[in-house]
Amino acid sequence: MKKHNFNAGPSILPEFTIKSTAENILNLNGIGLSLMEISHRSKEYTAINDEAQAMMKELLEIPSGYSVLFLQGGASLQFCMVPFNLLNKKAAYLETGSWAKKAIKEAKFFGQVDVVASSADKNYSYIPKGFSIPKDADYFHITTNNTIYGTEIRKDIDSPVPLVADASSDILSRPMDVSKYALIYGGVQKNLGPSGVAFVIIKDDILGKFERQIPTMLNYKTHIDDKSLFNTPACITVFACLQTMKWLKQLGGLKAMQKINTEKAKLLYDEIDRNKLFIPTVQEEEDRSVMNVTFVMNENYKELESQFLEFATSKGMVGIKGHRSVGGFRASIYNALPKESVQALVDTMKEFESKN
Ligand SMILES: *Cc1c(COP(=O)(O)O)cnc(C)c1O
Repeated sequence: MKKHNFNAGPSILPEFTIKSTAENILNLNGIGLSLMEISHRSKEYTAINDEAQAMMKELLEIPSGYSVLFLQGGASLQFCMVPFNLLNKKAAYLETGSWAKKAIKEAKFFGQVDVVASSADKNYSYIPKGFSIPKDADYFHITTNNTIYGTEIRKDIDSPVPLVADASSDILSRPMDVSKYALIYGGVQKNLGPSGVAFVIIKDDILGKFERQIPTMLNYKTHIDDKSLFNTPACITVFACLQTMKWLKQLGGLKAMQKINTEKAKLLYDEIDRNKLFIPTVQEEEDRSVMNVTFVMNENYKELESQFLEFATSKGMVGIKGHRSVGGFRASIYNALPKESVQALVDTMKEFESKN
């Protein structure tokens, strides 16, 4: 029996993605060769590369003047590539969790960093509001979904300076107004494919605003000019991401996906709010992540925590133990997680409540 997979990343993928990738690893498009053993310069692979970039543009309705890149080094290398390419004097960052802090650390190698607001005072359990973005910053960096803490900026915010977003764990979970962003990046292993690739959606004209020597592989221009084929890409991962995007399109695109995601999240948050054993770690409804749902045991039932984990495991649930920096539980309910799995978790919580 297939498990209910609540892993935070790498995480659940559509069965379509896994099957189609497996088939094409054995025999790509019936050509008698594996996806693993063809040149990335072959016409077969360049077609995959082109289609994956085009599909990202189609699903997110990316306006002209932007490029889509698939690079290696994960989101973590983007923490460094973003300031390397864009930070001349000063950048502004919103500190909403561990990933934001890591991005800030890298930016400091390249210039001044203004942290405009932080939610560290309450263990990142909310999204700061009412901050002001300095108009002389080279860019403003946000983390749209805080995978560890379960908070999310679910709107496309306005910024007086180029807006840069780490959208590792909520990319393609909803339609986005890409025109509001100068750059959106993330690892694909949360909501799109297996690990090995970072996607970058970049407005071409934000580059080259100041003089700096940038090593070839770390220069966005290299990858824009060569359409992500400057060097050998992670071919299997890009192929798998394309399969997930085809699945998304088939499903009705990002509007349809958003509707399903909102329903799944509501189902789970409603139960957390109702069930006497549990409390949500994020109180503010508008800050709650639709992708990573974090909750802890109610004070009076703390001793039941490991018992609940065991009970959930016995019901086929995987990956609901919370990150060590929050504790309790985290259910990652990415695009590919079926509503039935959320329902199964809710039923498990109800049953556990009735036993205790
Ligand atoms: C997982 C994650 C990262 C790190 O991604 P890597 O590809 O492992 O470098 C960065 N930011 C966010 C929001 C994440 O969820």
